[in-house]
Amino acid sequence: RALPALQHHRLSDMKKYALVTGGSRGIGAAIASQLAADGYHVIINYRSNSEAAKETLRAIEDAGGEGELLPFDVTEEHTVDEALEQWEERHPDEYISVLVNNAGVRSDNLMVFMETEQWNRVMGASLNGFFFVTRRLLKNMMTHRNGRIVNIASLSGLKGLPGQSNYSAAKAAMIGAMKALAQEVAPRKVTVNAVAPGFIHSDMTKDLNEAELRKTVPMNRFGEPQEVADLVSFLVSPKASYITGQTISINGGLY
Ligand code: NAP
Repeated sequence: RALPALQHHRLSDMKKYALVTGGSRGIGAAIASQLAADGYHVIINYRSNSEAAKETLRAIEDAGGEGELLPFDVTEEHTVDEALEQWEERHPDEYISVLVNNAGVRSDNLMVFMETEQWNRVMGASLNGFFFVTRRLLKNMMTHRNGRIVNIASLSGLKGLPGQSNYSAAKAAMIGAMKALAQEVAPRKVTVNAVAPGFIHSDMTKDLNEAELRKTVPMNRFGEPQEVADLVSFLVSPKASYITGQTISINGGLY
């Protein structure tokens, strides 16, 4: 994977920390690499794939960036609290100013056949995960009057896709929560936005029939994780200081 060039690398000035959930692979790994190139010390969260996470961190370090691994399952409230509490204890004078809620899973089925476990698993990763991690980090962002939160939602959460009632519900709910939270924390200079990708190349989409599906995309192709990473990079930058409560689609023109 080609890494973006290192820009504005001023870690020595004042370290800025960004946490990317599900940062081991795919879109999350591209976001982690881009934020490292933007000068953040990146905290790469993942659930179980430590090989992929280590490879992502190695690539970041090879490019001159900085990061660390912080595995935890975003669906487990106590695990989230424990991992972040330990991180805070190790960094008593620092705080995480950028949070990208990217961890997510698919488990498609028509609702008539959908198992409760499939429903709960998909809601757990995207919706509960967003709540547990965000709640934990909000206080410090609000106290410091500085914070950027980006939720990786989906086109599926905007238009609904057949076979994905669980995933569409989880992503739509993330968008609703994002809009409410954006209003709660706007006075404290914390922005909260969502990004809604269409079809992006990653492990999550590798079982799809790309040759057929790309015909539904006006740009006639799937997107790349780096294209999503560039949008997230903008949303967490000072250039996006007056953008909050928004869902930005990135889908090659597909609605
Ligand atoms: P992916 O390649 O399958 O990667 C998923 C990532 O999420 C991995 O890092 C995985 O960690 C992590 N993860 C999953 N469950 C987790 C949990 N319970 N706790 C912590 N980490 C967890 O997926 P992707 O395509 O990059 O998708 C990233 C996000 O974009 C997801 O929220 C997805 O819904 C969204 N999205 C993707 C597309 C697309 O076309 N690809 C389109 C719209 C939205 P491990 O490596 O440890 O498993």
